[in-house]
Amino acid sequence: MLIVMRQGASEEEVARVEESVRAAGFTPHPVRGALRTAVAVTGNETPLNPASFERLAGVQSVVPVTQPTTLVGRESHPDDTLIEVGGAVFGGGHLAVIAGPCAVESFEQTLEVARAVQAAGAKLLRGGAYKPRTSPYSFQGLEREGLKILSKVRQETGLPVVTEVLDTDSLELVAEHADVIQIGARSMQNFPLLKRAGRVRKPVLLKRGLSATLEEWLMSAEYIAAEGNPSIILCERGVRTFSTHTRYTLDLAIVPAVKETSHLPVIVDPSHGTGSRTKVAPMARAAVAAGADGLMVEVHADPGGALSDGPQALLPSEFAGLMAEVRALAGLAGRKV
Ligand code: PEP
Ligand code: MN
Repeated sequence: MLIVMRQGASEEEVARVEESVRAAGFTPHPVRGALRTAVAVTGNETPLNPASFERLAGVQSVVPVTQPTTLVGRESHPDDTLIEVGGAVFGGGHLAVIAGPCAVESFEQTLEVARAVQAAGAKLLRGGAYKPRTSPYSFQGLEREGLKILSKVRQETGLPVVTEVLDTDSLELVAEHADVIQIGARSMQNFPLLKRAGRVRKPVLLKRGLSATLEEWLMSAEYIAAEGNPSIILCERGVRTFSTHTRYTLDLAIVPAVKETSHLPVIVDPSHGTGSRTKVAPMARAAVAAGADGLMVEVHADPGGALSDGPQALLPSEFAGLMAEVRALAGLAGRKV
């Protein structure tokens, strides 16, 4: 249910509405639009009686929300959500690029890539300290040491850091070091992790599960929003299909589908989406043309020696070439890099 306030309703009136929602045993979520504020209500298992809220001062109308995603759906929040991290903006006509190695391997390796991607125009640094690997014998990440390296590289370069959290035990530690907390494809339906990420006051980058539908993905975002964290960036990273010419099948049609259904920014990861260096730039360009709010790209100075995902890593020079193309295309797609 959505309680729509009159244009010009005072903060006190909004606060009183929130109070009465809480008094009825539900959770209020104020949504501040350009013209008016609305208060979305969650926590009710059956439809609410609007009458008790319609009477309150400053209330214009009470409308049912038909989407199951009350908070992340467009119905309750028609304007795009903008998420600012450092100097980067996701959503609302901006296009922000996140780049860096798959995994943090050492301070020197991470700093070298960070400087190169920053010079090319990336606004955030990526790098995994905790790596979800298919094999238990593959490099699992430097863990705590990797987080410290990311913090040091941020200090050196000023680039905000995006890094993955794998479990609730390490969430607090990861949140101390990260500017954006990444929840990976394999964790998209780890509901305890989603709930905990919803209580953190940092943006969450939520990757699409390997076989998740749009509805399942948005429901996972709803878990985070329902706990009080509205700063969610969605990331398409390819899904499992019968095709074997790429590692996954990048589903770019989900970009306009997200835009129709949700107000959250959506970015694309062509590195995991294809698993193959030669296909990263073409799919990155296609993602921009499809209306993505950003990209996440893996870059390594020595892909042959990378401890994870070397075959899909761009060289810094290749990444710089891609950024020039992205800048040229962004204007056509109505985006500012
Ligand atoms: C990653 O971005 O480091 C990663 C592991 O991606 P995904 O969860 O999409 O596989
Ligand atoms: Mn990777």
